[in-house]
Amino acid sequence: MTQQPELSPSTRLVVGGRPAHEHNAPVNPPIQMSSTYRQVGPSGIDSYARFTNQSWDGLEQVISDLEGGQLPGLLFASGMAAVASVLNLVPVGGTILMPAHTYMASVTIANQLEQRGVVKVVRLDIENTESVLEDLTNAAAAAGVDANSVNYAAPKVLLWLESPTNPMLEVADLPAILSAAKSLGIVSAVDNTFATPLGQHPLALGADIVAHSATKSIAGHSDVLLGITVTSNKELYDAMQAYRTSNGAIAGPFEAWLGLRGVRTLALRVEKANANALELARRLKDHPAVQAVRYPGLPEDPGYERAAAQMQSFGCVLSITLDATPEQTDDVLRALQVWTPATSLGGVESLVERRRRHAAEPDSIPESLLRLSVGIEDVEDLYADLVTAINATVLGEEK
Ligand SMILES: *Cc1c(COP(=O)(O)O)cnc(C)c1O
Repeated sequence: MTQQPELSPSTRLVVGGRPAHEHNAPVNPPIQMSSTYRQVGPSGIDSYARFTNQSWDGLEQVISDLEGGQLPGLLFASGMAAVASVLNLVPVGGTILMPAHTYMASVTIANQLEQRGVVKVVRLDIENTESVLEDLTNAAAAAGVDANSVNYAAPKVLLWLESPTNPMLEVADLPAILSAAKSLGIVSAVDNTFATPLGQHPLALGADIVAHSATKSIAGHSDVLLGITVTSNKELYDAMQAYRTSNGAIAGPFEAWLGLRGVRTLALRVEKANANALELARRLKDHPAVQAVRYPGLPEDPGYERAAAQMQSFGCVLSITLDATPEQTDDVLRALQVWTPATSLGGVESLVERRRRHAAEPDSIPESLLRLSVGIEDVEDLYADLVTAINATVLGEEK
């Protein structure tokens, strides 16, 4: 869907996915509220609104263009509907490999498939490239796949990656891992939600599929749920589209319209939020009540070198681990005035969450780890609010 490759991404975000340049054409695409379309004769993909809706087209074009896809994107009802369309491609007896720390609901889908006897799930230590390559080699050998016999519509081995991971912010060596997967006949997908389509381009790094929870930075205002996948492989495109159509995992026309409106400002939001995140990471790493900070854009972070080599920008999410009990950590959240204690990320407003409040998060995530999704507010206000709350609650300082 590359429309004008000479234009920069921030321009393509604004000019892409608009109605044709005709006299009296609306500047924005209309919201098409119709469940069916007039047709006589053989029915096609354009006969019913579970198959297609013009209101999806703009966002599907814009995100695919930014991700470097050769086909339009596929818009879904939520990030999880998009994830499900990928994980459910794996046939009975297949294997799904995914990072030890991965978005919880993606793990849940994989585990459910395993419990029903459909697939085997292998968890990866993605910071350790050597061990990942070994796991990939073993999975390919056990499944008997190689680069010449890939069935994209039903991949026997699927590699599902997140980088940076949620909520540990670990960074995988994407070029090394994705090219190994390709040479072994393993189909690969990268959840690019944390990086955004501006911050990292998994297709160019060797992935077959890129997926986003467009609920997050793409829509950007915490007011809508959407998901999207992009691939340049027609077999994968058809298989994910068939999943979307038959499962009805479709975005509402109004939600799609909100997503397109939101993404127009992605470049401005990402620039401001990422700068805020870096500044907070820099300051918080020296705070006496902060044990650890993870942010791939922090030069002293273990993931920095890899991130700098494969990302265009480092995202709006960082994690901090407090030198505090879980109860004290929750009290910090209660004391905040500017930050909102809530799950989710990538909105204009700053959100913060103690991840272990979710029973499904593994023990390897510290109890007092806070995931910070940094918004576009003034960084001084964000920092002052956090430090006042931490100092009062953890260090026992008077306000
Ligand atoms: C939020 C999120 C999802 C799921 O998206 P929904 O829109 O909530 O369904 C998947 N992956 C990551 C990394 C996410 O942050």
